[in-house]
Amino acid sequence: MSEDLNIDLHTHSNCSDGVLTPVELVTRAAAAHVEVLALTDHDTVAGLADASCAAAALGIRLVPGIEISASWRAQAIHVLGLWIDPESAPLRLHLQAQATHRALRMRKICARLSEVGLPGERLLAAVQANPGLPTRAHLAAAMVADGIVERSDDAFKKYLKRGRAAHVASEWPALEIVVGWIHAAGGAASLAHPARYDLSAGARRRLLADFVAAGGTAIEVVTGANAAHHVDSCAQLAMQFGVAGTIGSDFHNPEVPWNPLGRLAKLPPGVTPLWRSHGL
Ligand code: AMP
Ligand code: MN
Ligand code: MN
Ligand code: MN
Repeated sequence: MSEDLNIDLHTHSNCSDGVLTPVELVTRAAAAHVEVLALTDHDTVAGLADASCAAAALGIRLVPGIEISASWRAQAIHVLGLWIDPESAPLRLHLQAQATHRALRMRKICARLSEVGLPGERLLAAVQANPGLPTRAHLAAAMVADGIVERSDDAFKKYLKRGRAAHVASEWPALEIVVGWIHAAGGAASLAHPARYDLSAGARRRLLADFVAAGGTAIEVVTGANAAHHVDSCAQLAMQFGVAGTIGSDFHNPEVPWNPLGRLAKLPPGVTPLWRSHGL
């Protein structure tokens, strides 16, 4: 049965840096024939209650999820928590700390922008006007709206990414701590988009080994914008490290054409789907 299901285990709403409300997201996913959908906002579960109501009304299955920011060595890493209990008290406490860290970090980033002569205060206010937890994606959008850069990607390339003037070193909790939060909330941890981190092949394997040692049970083998060779190399990693696979679009915005809802490639044969151990 799982072979035929249309599944997407990685999406965002405007509770983080997506543009649709949770209800709009679920409605759009249902229209795109998604049957099993995880809402995985950055460091927040705020959208899950609305998404779950909408999913029940529309007859699609909602997997309660989250994408938590973590550190591995000097690298920021994203860990998907799937089938979590959004009411978990320890998880909610840790997410409050993540939210505080995000707010402080955004102030530091905007102060750096002021130092290089950009309107940091105004950009900070624009970021804070969004309903969701502040992310660099909001800041990049504010820089586009302000005419500072033409496209969001330019904001990262010129100012926000590692090595640029407004980059603030990651102080996210360690990978194994974050995996522990997910387990404490009854969820399974899947390493998001393993091919997207700026790591050598050797470092990526060490990351995988540490993730598995911490209790991570899956990696995201298919993600929206992945080239076929990335899918193949992630499938190899999943098989070598004996972990399951997940698939997810990382959908944020209906106007971005390369990762639409409902059109994901299937998990390559040989990789065990994580959802098989969750009754699907
Ligand atoms: P943060 O978690 O605050 O560091 O923000 C990271 C978010 O910014 C990611 O989840 C993406 O949605 C977005 N992002 C990262 N890199 C880029 C890029 N080069 N161009 C556009 N958006 C990006
Ligand atoms: Mn994002
Ligand atoms: Mn991510
Ligand atoms: Mn994401």
